[in-house]
Amino acid sequence: MKTNKHYIAAGLVLAAMCCIITTATTSCKRANATSSEEVTIADTTSTQGEEVTQTPLAGDNSIPQGARILMSVYPDFVKDYKNGKLIMSDGSTITYDDGRKKSFVELLDDADPEDMFAFNYDLNSWIPGKMQDAGRSRCEELFKKMYGNSDAAVRRNLVSVRWPFGQATNGGGVNKNIKTVKFTKINGANKQLEKVVAELEKHPELHKYLAQSGAFYWRPVRGAKRLSAHSYGMTIDIGVKFSDYWRTQARDENATVAYRNKYPHEIVEIFEKYGFIWGGRWYHYDTMHFEYRPEILLHARNK
Ligand SMILES: [Zn+2]
Repeated sequence: MKTNKHYIAAGLVLAAMCCIITTATTSCKRANATSSEEVTIADTTSTQGEEVTQTPLAGDNSIPQGARILMSVYPDFVKDYKNGKLIMSDGSTITYDDGRKKSFVELLDDADPEDMFAFNYDLNSWIPGKMQDAGRSRCEELFKKMYGNSDAAVRRNLVSVRWPFGQATNGGGVNKNIKTVKFTKINGANKQLEKVVAELEKHPELHKYLAQSGAFYWRPVRGAKRLSAHSYGMTIDIGVKFSDYWRTQARDENATVAYRNKYPHEIVEIFEKYGFIWGGRWYHYDTMHFEYRPEILLHARNK
C-alpha cells in the first residue's frame, strides 16, 4: 500500500519490539500477542506529534491481545483484565467475550469488546475484503462508559477543535466562516484531531475534500437500534460532495456491494497516522467518515 514514512517507521518500531498491538450503518449525516514474553504496545493516545510512544505492559500472555490493546490505547478507562472481564477505572467490569457465536449483523448490533477485533482492517489493500467492516463493531457498554451514556453526558466532554477548511452547506457549497468543529476531549481524541488538522494544512491540494459536515450527533444508526459512532463525539464526516455510501449500491447488509471511492488516499493516511479509521476501508463503505479508533489500527499493524 501507499504509505508514508512515518507510518512505516512507526510500524517497524512496533514490529521490532514484538508488539501486539463494527454499524451496519454508521450512517453518516446524509441521510456512518503475541507470543513473546515481553509485550509492548504503542500508546497512541500519548503520541506527541509524529512520535509513537511505547508503553511497556507486563508480559502477561494470559490476557487476550485485544484486551491488552484496549488497556494500551484507553489507559484512562481500561485498567486491567481479570477473570474474563475488563476492569474499568470506576471499578465496574465489562465481560470481554460473551462466548456467543454471532452473525455478521449481530457482530454489529451486539458486540462485546472481543468482537471489535473480529474483522480485518486491511492496511495493505485499498479495496475492503468481503464483509470486512473493522470498526463498525463497537461495544456500546465500553463506548458509553468512556464517552458518555447520553446526549447530555457526551456533550459535556465536547470541545472546539480548529477546522480551518469550512463546513459543507446544503446547497453543495462550503461555508468558510465556520472554522471549528465540536469533538470529544475523552481519550485525547481532540488532540489527535488537532494533529490531523496541522498536517492537512500542509497539503492545499487536498483542501477541497475537507469541508466538514458534522461530528457529534446522538442518534441510532438508521434502520438499527445501535448507536452511530457520531453519538460519541469522536467521529467526523468530511467532503460530503465527494462521498460514496454502500447503501446506494445495496438494499441490505447481506447483499454484494460494489466498491466506490473518490477520496485521495493521502487524506486517509494522515488520519490513520493519528488513530482514526476510515469508513472507506469497510466493505459497507462510508467514505466521508473518520472515527477515532486507535485499537483497530493497533490491531491491524500487529497482525
Ligand atoms: Zn460518519
